[in-house]
Amino acid sequence: MELVLLGPPGSGKGTQAKVLAERFRVPHISTGDIFRKNLREGTELGEMARRYMDEGQLVPDDVTEAMVTDRLAQQDAIAGFILDGFPRNLAQGEHFQPMLREAGRRLTAVIHLVVGRSVLITRLTGRRVCPKCGASYHVEFNPPQVAGHCDVCSTELVQRPDDSLETVTKRLEVYDNETAPLVAFYEAQGLLMEFDGELPVDALADAIVSRVSAHG
Ligand code: AMP
Repeated sequence: MELVLLGPPGSGKGTQAKVLAERFRVPHISTGDIFRKNLREGTELGEMARRYMDEGQLVPDDVTEAMVTDRLAQQDAIAGFILDGFPRNLAQGEHFQPMLREAGRRLTAVIHLVVGRSVLITRLTGRRVCPKCGASYHVEFNPPQVAGHCDVCSTELVQRPDDSLETVTKRLEVYDNETAPLVAFYEAQGLLMEFDGELPVDALADAIVSRVSAHG
């Protein structure tokens, strides 16, 4: 099971990837999460990525590609993966094909989550995350039990710096210009499967699982 989740920021890739990873028993690999972990740990990679992330820009391809190659070679990803946030532009998409081929693998499908622009903005600007365990909430649609605190570990929730309205606008622009061309790229390869990303989480996961399973 080698899946890519494609969709704008706020389309629910991370949420779906977690559910699908459990259902298909393969790891959820999020390039954004790996960058954020490096940032928290103050690694050289994290410091380098910070200035791009803070501005809603993409981290350079060579750095990102090397990081993904390393991650996919790890033992737990041998049986498959759910990739969330990669590839993010045509250059990464084109680089990804031979990278997989060399490892004797190929994509099962690319899941495209379609969500209206105003919903994306509401979801992203209202998102709050736990800096300790990574759990994600929404001030209106998925509030924690105690306002401002994580249900799992009680840590005070924060807004991701790149979820401010200004950076969200930039990220959506970067998506339109750089990531959206991947839709046609994967459609031409017969790999694209489109879904309504505004469906409730479980209904959407069911739809994806049944279509991917029927396909495979
Ligand atoms: P995400 O959590 O997927 O929204 O990613 C957060 C940020 O990490 C993005 O705005 C980029 O700065 C960076 N990032 C994540 N994935 C990639 C990628 N495949 N290529 C370049 N930058 C990325």
